[in-house]
Amino acid sequence: MSESKSAETQPAKQPLPPGMILGPDGKPCKICTAFRNWPKTTKKTTQNASSGSSTGTKTSAAVTTALISASQAAAPSHPPARSENCPPDVEQLGRATWTFLHTTAAYYPEKPTPNQRANMLTLIRSLPVLYPCTHCASDFGEEVKKSPPDVSGRVGLSRWLCERHNEVNEKLGKSKFNCAVEKLDERWKDGPDDGSCD
Ligand SMILES: Cc1cc2nc3c(=O)[nH]c(=O)nc-3n(C[C@H](O)[C@H](O)[C@H](O)COP(=O)(O)OP(=O)(O)OC[C@H]3O[C@@H](n4cnc5c(N)ncnc54)[C@H](O)[C@@H]3O)c2cc1C
Repeated sequence: MSESKSAETQPAKQPLPPGMILGPDGKPCKICTAFRNWPKTTKKTTQNASSGSSTGTKTSAAVTTALISASQAAAPSHPPARSENCPPDVEQLGRATWTFLHTTAAYYPEKPTPNQRANMLTLIRSLPVLYPCTHCASDFGEEVKKSPPDVSGRVGLSRWLCERHNEVNEKLGKSKFNCAVEKLDERWKDGPDDGSCD
């Protein structure tokens, strides 16, 4: 997991700011970290540190130390407001990706052609390779290995995705979603019977 990698690259006896995650390069990983855990001064600090050192370890140590100081100094009691046009953090990217995946599953054919199945498999298998939150990607890859994708039809695929999403929910301490197809269709395709989404 990323936490063990984080521990290798941080300065001795200096804990990372809560929620801050380092990427494979040992530097703070914005797309792996929720915005509320991203100290305000990080960008400036990262640029300065990157231009001031040629070794990755030194750079990440300097950045991490600066991050800790910044987060300890700032320690906001509530997350600051953020413009809609900012790059995504791990949560926004996650919500958008799940929305795409669940919606695509909800509209996937009941009886897909071999070509549609092959493309869906490629889409799912590309996530562990391409998803920019690297620790999310590698955990997802492990889950896909344990539970191979069901691309046989929209019901099986919707349920399979729901179960993978629930694994992430569980890891993050969130409640599980009911993976019954009626519940999934209500959330991702039809909306509730009361017409509130019509
Ligand atoms: C492949 C993948 C791996 C991820 N791994 C990590 C990780 O390791 N660490 C991390 O911090 N974040 C990870 N994320 C992001 C994380 O899952 C959330 O997207 C993010 O925390 C925002 O959560 P949220 O509470 O807004 O709702 P989300 O979890 O994004 O869910 C969006 C909506 O989907 C619905 N929903 C919830 N559960 C299910 C389900 N099981 N089936 C169908 N619909 C459901 C709910 O209506 C919910 O509001 C990952 C995202 C993806 C796509």
